[in-house]
Amino acid sequence: MGRTLWVLGDQLHPTGGVLAGARPGVDRILFVLSLAKLRERPWHRQRAHLFVAGMRRLAVDLERRGFEVDWREADSWRAGLEAHVRDHRPDAVEAMEPLNRRGRATLERLGVELRRNDQFLCHYDEFADWADRHQRGDGSVLLEDFYRWQRRRLGVLMDGDAPAGGRWNLDADNRQPPPRDGRDWPPVTTSALDELDREVMDHLESLPGVRLFGAPPDGTWATSRRRALHRLQRFVEEVLPGFGAHQDAMLQRSWAMRHSLLSHALNAGMLHPGEVVEAAEIAYREGRVPLNSAEGFVRQVVGWREFVWGLYWWRDADWRAANVLGNDQPLPPAFTGAASTDARCVATSVGWIERHAYAHHIPRLMVLANLATLAGVRPQELTAWMHASFVDGADWVMVPNVVGMGMYADGGSMSTKPYVSGGKYIDRMSDFCGDCRYDPKQRVGERACPFTTLYWDFLDRHRDVLADNRRLARPYATLERLADVEEVRRRAKEVRARLAAGTL
Ligand code: SF4
Repeated sequence: MGRTLWVLGDQLHPTGGVLAGARPGVDRILFVLSLAKLRERPWHRQRAHLFVAGMRRLAVDLERRGFEVDWREADSWRAGLEAHVRDHRPDAVEAMEPLNRRGRATLERLGVELRRNDQFLCHYDEFADWADRHQRGDGSVLLEDFYRWQRRRLGVLMDGDAPAGGRWNLDADNRQPPPRDGRDWPPVTTSALDELDREVMDHLESLPGVRLFGAPPDGTWATSRRRALHRLQRFVEEVLPGFGAHQDAMLQRSWAMRHSLLSHALNAGMLHPGEVVEAAEIAYREGRVPLNSAEGFVRQVVGWREFVWGLYWWRDADWRAANVLGNDQPLPPAFTGAASTDARCVATSVGWIERHAYAHHIPRLMVLANLATLAGVRPQELTAWMHASFVDGADWVMVPNVVGMGMYADGGSMSTKPYVSGGKYIDRMSDFCGDCRYDPKQRVGERACPFTTLYWDFLDRHRDVLADNRRLARPYATLERLADVEEVRRRAKEVRARLAAGTL
């Protein structure tokens, strides 16, 4: 009897979502750990741990607050719910709208009453309304339009009707190459692992059919709201003041540099984006953070993150299957650790992921997705791998970021041209190339940088789709002047074969 509130693994706010207004002694709380979900693909240890430990910690917290908590480990959500209903006979089961399409469809099928999702500043219904009014002739919507709309309506970093400082976008100040002065980077905030963390990891390792990879948790990622708030505070005080300038740069000795490392806590629901941008704005207004850093961070949270979330729901469900470039290559074994590679940028990025279940947006976009696009990897394989490998991975994150943005698999709904580059961009924005056996300036020969070779070959192979793109007019003009296109094609074929075989 009574009401059951079902808390999902990426909705871990102790007083938000379905728990808003919950009353101890009146409402019963349900958690279901689905073994089907854990078994559906190999997961990075730190990602699996984050969600299971996060659920467990919240369950303990709710019990301390006087709630009756029903923790179910079951073959599926359906099995967990049925067992709960059998034992408790609730009058109603409520949950907050899940963050992904499959989850929502499942809960609807199960007859769960869904409350409106409150984890974003812009619900997908509001986004759809905005997007329907702002889509252009080709059906696309622009991030910049959405970002300004969000800033205005939410009053974030605004001075009256104008953006703080007079400019909406300070990207020009924020795309600097890495500093070469050997400076120190802020230490990463961690929490000591405790008995609960160890129990969760031991249990995950013991579950039949669950495949895990990557380094075990080391306390980097918050598994409770209290720990997430601590990280937010440290970020604003110690990291955000210097966040802006080098946010696109990559340095081998610092995987985190000045990135917030808060995306896992936001995506798991432990932090709300509203409180995160408010903390950044207060620091800016009090003169503790320069505008370029505050704006760069706000753009990521209020702009990009919410844009991606809205697009995931606004686009058709089959968006995820798009593959306009006809890619047919498998995910490179160098990505999964099944093979090593001499390409320093790839090896370093994959090493970061193996150790931390994380790499910031530029290794994701301009190293891994870039190489996958250039080599013709099937977009759905990269989507699935990134979803499982990153601590902040989720269906709503990866479908837009990989299919729409990273791999141009839908023909450009999120970008007017593919995000591809040769080795030159990586050389400018990182310290990788000096330590690599390949040379970013060479496109043919044994030492040719795979990115550089594949970049020209990519343009050559996809003339039918891309040659008329005005933003690619200059590279295509250069391609026409290359005297060694035949050799580039030969070398590219070899590079693609070696990438697929794990011998690059
Ligand atoms: Fe990567 Fe090419 Fe630079 Fe090597 S030379 S690190 S493969 S971009």
